[in-house]
Amino acid sequence: MDIASKITSLREELTQHNYNYYVLDQPEISDYEFDIKLKELQELEAKHPEFYDANSPTIRVGGMVTKNFETVTHEHRMYSLDNSYSIEDLEDWEKRLQRILGDVEVNYVCELKYDGASMSLTYESGILARAVTRGDGFQGDDVTNNVKTIRSVPLKLKGDFPEKFDIRGEIVLSLEGFAKMNQERIEAGEDPYMNPRNTASGSLKLQDSAEVAKRPLECLLYNITGNNLAIESQHEGLLKAKEWGFKVPEVARLCKTTAEVMDFVNYWEEHRHDLPYEIDGVVVKVNSFRQQEELGYTAKAPRWAMAYKFKSEQASTTLERISYQVGRTGAITPVANLKPVLLAGTIVKRASLHNADQIAKLDIRVGDTVFVEKGGEIIPKIIAVDFTKRSVNAAPVKYLEHCPECETELIRKEGEAQHYCPNQYGCPPQITGRIQHFISRKAMDIEGLGGETVELLHKEKLIENYADLYILKKEDIIPLERMAEKSAENLVKGVEKSKEIPFERVLYALGIRFVGETVAKKLAKEYKSIDALKQASVEELVSVDEIGVKIAESVVDFFQNEKNIEIVDRLRKYGVQLEILADKLENITEKFKGITFVVSGVFEKFSRNELKKLIEDNSGKVASSISSKTSYVVAGDKMGPSKKAKAEKLDVPIISEDEFLKMLHE
Ligand code: AMP
Ligand code: ZN
Repeated sequence: MDIASKITSLREELTQHNYNYYVLDQPEISDYEFDIKLKELQELEAKHPEFYDANSPTIRVGGMVTKNFETVTHEHRMYSLDNSYSIEDLEDWEKRLQRILGDVEVNYVCELKYDGASMSLTYESGILARAVTRGDGFQGDDVTNNVKTIRSVPLKLKGDFPEKFDIRGEIVLSLEGFAKMNQERIEAGEDPYMNPRNTASGSLKLQDSAEVAKRPLECLLYNITGNNLAIESQHEGLLKAKEWGFKVPEVARLCKTTAEVMDFVNYWEEHRHDLPYEIDGVVVKVNSFRQQEELGYTAKAPRWAMAYKFKSEQASTTLERISYQVGRTGAITPVANLKPVLLAGTIVKRASLHNADQIAKLDIRVGDTVFVEKGGEIIPKIIAVDFTKRSVNAAPVKYLEHCPECETELIRKEGEAQHYCPNQYGCPPQITGRIQHFISRKAMDIEGLGGETVELLHKEKLIENYADLYILKKEDIIPLERMAEKSAENLVKGVEKSKEIPFERVLYALGIRFVGETVAKKLAKEYKSIDALKQASVEELVSVDEIGVKIAESVVDFFQNEKNIEIVDRLRKYGVQLEILADKLENITEKFKGITFVVSGVFEKFSRNELKKLIEDNSGKVASSISSKTSYVVAGDKMGPSKKAKAEKLDVPIISEDEFLKMLHE
């Protein structure tokens, strides 16, 4: 096969797999196989820039930087929706429709009202030409580069589509994807995002599309607009859109009466939490496009559509007691114990109170009647106190002063909201929590050992810290409750095997506060061994990209503790990897230390990502946009003219791929 056909066939294949996975939710090959094919395509495209295609599946990984999002006028205005809250409201609406349409049959399409960021996509000849935010309805921001990374947005359409049209929909984050993003943020010591909706719309305005590509955004499409579309109704439009390759709402129903509409509303009001996304109501649309046209628009919304907003989901109940939990880092979390109450289909007994400030802010007292609400998070939150029901005897909360597990006096650092139990080495949940973190899948991944066994081993005084795992013997374990010869053997084997885990994951496993997976990787790459990291000062650490003061201080703190040094020395003795292995180091030098590169365009010998890796492996820095801090721009084919102008203006030398390689091998 010649190169051109090979590239075309890989593109088609990958597009189909993308579709299977992200639109149909029915993958046919493994992620691994997909990555191999994608890599093959990336390499071919890098070697053969003459076959460049702005809609190749390789574009999904991002890498385009948008400094200023251009304002674009919508060819067809993006309207708002009128709201209704009851069956009476809907019946009034129906009467208004009949006043205009006369006494004819009206059918409705009911859809879910997704809570995300509205989006308008323009397709020309079946190619995604532009993606624009709603803005004020007349004009929005061009976020095409970012939207192209969203896997469920087709870059090229299938079948028989109109020559030119806009399709509108909603960019959403699933609750699961949102929770995962927050988990990673918390591990990296960052504050979690508030809710999926704001996070989705914020993501669209990120400058680096590679960052957008990392977020699990999805796009659900439900409205086609344009001229001469050859579509007669909303329902037909949804079916057609699906045929062309769009992800359309799974749940849409054609209804003949407002009573049927109410059935749909009631059903989803009750089942909204079974859905993967947040919804805040239902949208009812007149099905026939001819009728829609006749009905037209008010100053701000179509007359042919109506949002039905769900009641916000609140319940009131009594705060019976406040209890306190101790986490693996010693952080104390107050928990509201509530009189059980039914909220959005589940019985709620507990709600997080976050910290002492939150308790003070709510002015919450034991015995109070409180309002709880189910937000984006799984754990409900207390939003307010019903002061009219407060008993005269209710006393302000006296925050806990001693650890509920070990009695140690709690501390609270300047500027931090959380109280801590400082008894790191004597407080049982902290001891077992650290070991549980150490053995977890993303850390040392010790098979044959689970959280409960850790607690048991600790209770039996067999382990006090994670280094002790490495001296466990089969004979010590067998006598324990629920332990048999085989399970004891597996445990010891699992521990032994963890000695193969590379340094970056060991570093994460140590459980240094604020050192999550990504930070651990960064530090491992920068310092290459635990001994080098141990020597680093706060000032040095913060000079590493993405390492802030909070993380730096935490790392220095960790190594100032004798006990930690002792444990780390023991890990070394047992053979745990505390540095990057020599064969991995071979290609790593400090050649580019202090040099910042911007890589732009399409290259012959390497892909852009490979070039970036070469720079980083040799201690250089890769920046995404040109500034006065840039040392060199490595330019390939098709480097953007604005980039070129900028480099020239700032006097940043532009070098070719070959010149770069010469620098590297000098
Ligand atoms: P509002 O922002 O309350 O005026 O509601 C209008 C917004 O609802 C639109 O801009 C859309 O982004 C959003 N929306 C969510 N789901 C739908 C849907 N199925 N049909 C139409 N609009 C929807
Ligand atoms: Zn304690």
